[in-house]
Amino acid sequence: MEDKHICQTCKHFRQHYTKDTLGRYFMCGSGHCVYPRRKPRYNDAKACENYRPKETAG
Ligand code: SF4
Repeated sequence: MEDKHICQTCKHFRQHYTKDTLGRYFMCGSGHCVYPRRKPRYNDAKACENYRPKETAG
């Protein structure tokens, strides 16, 4: 997934989650972008010119 240029792999993307009645969290199919301003984005939206890959640990 990391080499795909979509919003989900961008450092400016914030993933949204949903919680079920048992308190378990699940990843949504969307989130929001914080750069240069907040806006909703689907996880698999095609990356824009502001795309920067997320830094990976290690
Ligand atoms: S809209 Fe652009 S800057 Fe925002 S998360 Fe998607 S690729 Fe990154």
